Amino acid sequence: MLLAAPMFALPETPDEALAALAERPGAVVVAGGTEVMPDLLWRTREAAGFVSLRRVGALRGVRVDGEDLVIGAGTPVAALTGAPDAGLAAAAASLGTPLVRTEATIGGNVVSALPYRNLLPALLAGGARLELTSATGVRTVPFDGFVTAPGRTGLAAGELLTAIRLPRHGGFADYVKVGRRNAQFVATVSAAVVSRDGVVRLAFGNAGPTPLRSDDVDAVGTALLDGQATPADLRAAVAAAVDPPEDPIASADYRRHALGVLAVRLVTRAQIDGGLGS
Ligand SMILES: Cc1cc2nc3c(=O)[nH]c(=O)nc-3n(C[C@H](O)[C@H](O)[C@H](O)COP(=O)(O)OP(=O)(O)OC[C@H]3O[C@@H](n4cnc5c(N)ncnc54)[C@H](O)[C@@H]3O)c2cc1C
Repeated sequence: MLLAAPMFALPETPDEALAALAERPGAVVVAGGTEVMPDLLWRTREAAGFVSLRRVGALRGVRVDGEDLVIGAGTPVAALTGAPDAGLAAAAASLGTPLVRTEATIGGNVVSALPYRNLLPALLAGGARLELTSATGVRTVPFDGFVTAPGRTGLAAGELLTAIRLPRHGGFADYVKVGRRNAQFVATVSAAVVSRDGVVRLAFGNAGPTPLRSDDVDAVGTALLDGQATPADLRAAVAAAVDPPEDPIASADYRRHALGVLAVRLVTRAQIDGGLGS
């Protein structure tokens, strides 16, 4: 008689994790569990089993590979507060509390795919790519476009996010978040910037159903950096590009305004940094 696979799997390698997933259709991957556990508690998620990544050491750690910083999907957020990318570091430092940051992983933040999650704008501004691993191999996809709707991604069934590749741009990067309070509150809105060789790339959180960036906004941000546009121009470009939610925490109008303010603040910081560096 065949025994059903135990409901809970504790693999030790990525291959074992993929095999455990294949054996348990409908099982939920658990990394830090800081999203999964509250969801189960509030009954907003169902699970036919669990595959924990806690013992998969190969998914943890940050290394340099050529032009990229390669961040294992199971790397705790706490380990990223000193990341070489200052935008990612600032986003990590303002996520939850020290306890949450110790358990929470970057992979869980990415796959949760909610537009207000801290790390997403920093990854989008930085041009991150994701390594998605399945039984048939690894595919690398841009983070831009990976989140298709709130909570939904291009991750296929049986696939694991194994690493995040963030280009080492060598320029200026930063992240800012507006929330009801500084600690333990998700972003009402957020924004990240990477500025390199006089070109600005901005990305926004809770500015629409998915993490958002826009070529038009970047063009005006770059012009502002160069003194060819005004802060009002950038605020107008942001207002035209975003489609923020309206909810009991804030109105869409407030969010649209705040996103413009954050964009100007970040480009101003990049300007000051450039001025200091030259
Ligand atoms: C008190 C509290 C405060 C919080 N504050 C913030 C905050 O300020 N900002 C913020 O952004 N978030 C916050 N969060 C949410 C949460 O901590 C983060 O989103 C965290 O990064 C999730 O990581 P995790 O490893 O715990 O994910 P998990 O709960 O383990 O998983 C989240 C989702 O990702 C999937 N998943 C995880 N890893 C992988 C993988 N490698 N491959 C495929 N799928 C995977 C899981 O199946 C699940 O769907 C908070 C949570 C709590 C409980």
